[in-house]
Amino acid sequence: MNCPTCNSENIINNGGIHNGKQKYACKDCGRQFVLEPTNCISQEKKDLIDKLLLEKILLAGIARVVGVSECWLQKYVNKKYDSVPKIIDIKPKKKGKLFNVMRYDLS
Ligand SMILES: [Zn+2]
Repeated sequence: MNCPTCNSENIINNGGIHNGKQKYACKDCGRQFVLEPTNCISQEKKDLIDKLLLEKILLAGIARVVGVSECWLQKYVNKKYDSVPKIIDIKPKKKGKLFNVMRYDLS
């Protein structure tokens, strides 16, 4: 975590949680700030979102049910799919046309 003003990592906890937001202060420049609410999504909510995603429910529906913003959910999904290795079928197909292409690539 860095100060949004001077980018210092010298951040101290500056008080309790109000409306679900944790307050912080920068020791270097004195700037006070709260974490973005999007950083406060609990792991339970993320697990629930993961389950709902498997049900092929529209993102807008999931966002309403779980209580997160559609914007955050879209970013979450994008990040999630980026981190999943792409599954590539490397088994050679026994089709004449494709076989010829593969031979061409190898030569
Ligand atoms: Zn600062």
